[in-house]
Amino acid sequence: MALRRESFLPFSRPVIGQEEIDEIIDSIQSGWLTTGPKTARFEEDLAIYNGAPYVRAMNSATTAQEISLQIMDIKRGDEIITSSLTWVSTLSTIVLRGGIPVLVDIDPRTLNMDPSKLEAAITSKTKGIIPVHLTGLPCDLESIWTLAERHKLWVIEDAAQAMGATYKGKKIGSNSRSVMSIYSFHPNKNLTTGEGGAIALHDEKYLNIIARLRFHGIEKDAWKRQSKEGSLHIDVIEPARKANFMDLQAAIGIHQLTKLDQFNRRRGDLFKRYLKLLNDVQECILPWEGDIDFGHCFHLFVFRILPEKAGLSRDEFVQALKDRNIGSGIHYRPAHLHTYYQNFYKAHPRALPAEGLPHSEWSGERLLSLPLWPGLTEDDQDLIVRIIKDVIVSAKKKS
Ligand SMILES: *Cc1c(COP(=O)(O)O)cnc(C)c1O
Repeated sequence: MALRRESFLPFSRPVIGQEEIDEIIDSIQSGWLTTGPKTARFEEDLAIYNGAPYVRAMNSATTAQEISLQIMDIKRGDEIITSSLTWVSTLSTIVLRGGIPVLVDIDPRTLNMDPSKLEAAITSKTKGIIPVHLTGLPCDLESIWTLAERHKLWVIEDAAQAMGATYKGKKIGSNSRSVMSIYSFHPNKNLTTGEGGAIALHDEKYLNIIARLRFHGIEKDAWKRQSKEGSLHIDVIEPARKANFMDLQAAIGIHQLTKLDQFNRRRGDLFKRYLKLLNDVQECILPWEGDIDFGHCFHLFVFRILPEKAGLSRDEFVQALKDRNIGSGIHYRPAHLHTYYQNFYKAHPRALPAEGLPHSEWSGERLLSLPLWPGLTEDDQDLIVRIIKDVIVSAKKKS
């Protein structure tokens, strides 16, 4: 019988402690469930942690991305440069605002946007750049900022996977050369609130518009109106979504944040342990662990299987792991290969480079994320590695 785990091991699992549970119970017993004092505290705590003057939380990073683009006043046909190896919301929020996501290829070593490809993608319609810190490894921000400043473009960082990551010693989101940075608190991310997202920003002038755009177009202290000091009179300035963050979510987030550095250290230890244990596997490419300037927060351990050497495709490899009760993830199928975007780029051929996106496609076909979360045990990690090696040995025997 093939080596397998007794029960299924998912690739990610949130680590929620008694503190989070007690805080949720406190919220429920207090009678205040939605946006309120705990949300305000979570936003303040996040701002202190990230070193950005302001943070505003909302229901998801996807909504935060769309709101950030609305604030930047994207008009029909405006071009925003980003990479294809990302979650589709990076592109879809641009399209939903009427913009055109212009794609540049990745650096295959980091899986992040290759800044040397940016200049060629800039046109008179370019408004901004959205670097995606994929896997929790920061992009080459210095090159991106320098180019953006030369061309008068804004930078909004997709930091959904980068809570706790640092660039040149400072937290992602802390540098005002990016107008905003966006985090996600989805259950798979390094810090979770169930669902949720936030914008870190530097310019006070955007605070009122964020308040408006995340809550019905109401500007001033909307949530306070049911409290004693609040006024019952409200004024709607424009139609807007309802994307506010709940105190029930903040109850989880406040305690997750106090544990984040410890979680990320554990992720880092497991990440480096994978690198050691898998070092002798010739049939794969292992991820880069970052360095002093590129401070990884170890969100994902992306393993690229080389089908030409291993004798099985990525999808077959993922299935073989699943058959042996090891879960994995695919982060991501390059966005331009999804049906909608295939048609979109047929209609906007100049939004892709003439040479296509060969590195995004090459890695996109080979990548999978191995189990990585702070609660993963070393015994399980050892078993995962033995199973990986066993799957490859069996595949090579057959081929
Ligand atoms: C998770 C993720 C998002 C979306 O976050 P949500 O909170 O689920 O909306 C966007 N971009 C990247 C790179 C992500 O990993």
